[in-house]
Amino acid sequence: PPAPTPSPAPAPPPAPSPAGPPASSLGAGAGGGYPATAAGPGDGPAEVERARTTFADVAGMDAVKESLRVKLLLPLQQPELFAAYGKRAGGGVLLYGPPGAGKTHLARAAAGELGAAFISVGLADILDMYIGSSERNLRATFDLARRNRPCVLFFDEVDALAARRSDARNTHNRQIVNQFLAELDGVDQNANDGVLVLAATNAPWYIDVAFRRPGRFDQLVFVPPPDAGARAAILRILCRDKPVADLDFDAVARATEHMVGADLKGVVDRAVEVKLHESMRAGHPIPMTTMDLLAAAKAARPTAVREWMATARNYVLHSNESGAWDDLLPWVKGKW
Ligand code: ADP
Repeated sequence: PPAPTPSPAPAPPPAPSPAGPPASSLGAGAGGGYPATAAGPGDGPAEVERARTTFADVAGMDAVKESLRVKLLLPLQQPELFAAYGKRAGGGVLLYGPPGAGKTHLARAAAGELGAAFISVGLADILDMYIGSSERNLRATFDLARRNRPCVLFFDEVDALAARRSDARNTHNRQIVNQFLAELDGVDQNANDGVLVLAATNAPWYIDVAFRRPGRFDQLVFVPPPDAGARAAILRILCRDKPVADLDFDAVARATEHMVGADLKGVVDRAVEVKLHESMRAGHPIPMTTMDLLAAAKAARPTAVREWMATARNYVLHSNESGAWDDLLPWVKGKW
């Protein structure tokens, strides 16, 4: 790994730092001798990835993919068209939906689809770094994205930040939120050109309206739990490149009601593990069957989709004055 640049500022007070060395090794002295594809694990809060997945690796979600295409990809691919109508590419997209439904997977695929770099940041990680360096980490992360444009900058758990804002007793928290918004707005008009900011949350109702102003996360996209057809498609993708018999994905989809992508991945992983043991005993690969998947599905339990839908229903029915949760309406009315 590259030698850390000497810290120009007086060192912050020492504190336990589970995420590695202080942020001074990431981004202090922006631009100066800092490698373009930066930070190895442990060097700071973010690293630059080259996404190898595209929308072809995201099963189902046709409506979501289409809306991301329009919101993110087309403006970058045809900037003249947007400029002609006086619109600038940019503004963030907030992905929301139950945990494990594929928000991160989708964001990474969007980067791959675009041939853009991908930077994924857990906001809770940044916030939990000790007092005084969160702002620096945020700045460094945005700078890293700007140096690697075109780039998809993905913030997970963005509700962690919003929750801090409402904690008005804590001025430091407010500073971090304000800095986040300032970075998002861009210091000058073109600061964030080529940087597509995506954020994800399981709890969109905690997100402050200040985040949803024009040019910020002004576009909300619901990432729904998969229906049976989408579950079959996800299973097909997850079983790709594995020794399998002729699988009845529809049967497995029917047996996995209420499961999201992350749950289905767990089911396939479990079935693969069982098969691997059998194959090792036999000394040759034994193809995975529908029965194997069904057995794994039976042993697994769906995560929190029903609970999530119950919470969502409350918010949608009782605080949807602005129409922000209209996408959710047809879903919460369904049976969960
Ligand atoms: P979230 O960010 O919404 O919590 P993730 O994106 O981490 O969920 O999804 C967990 C895993 O589930 C992914 O790594 C991926 O393997 C799988 N997955 C989820 N949705 C899909 C999908 N639509 N198509 C293919 N795989 C998916």
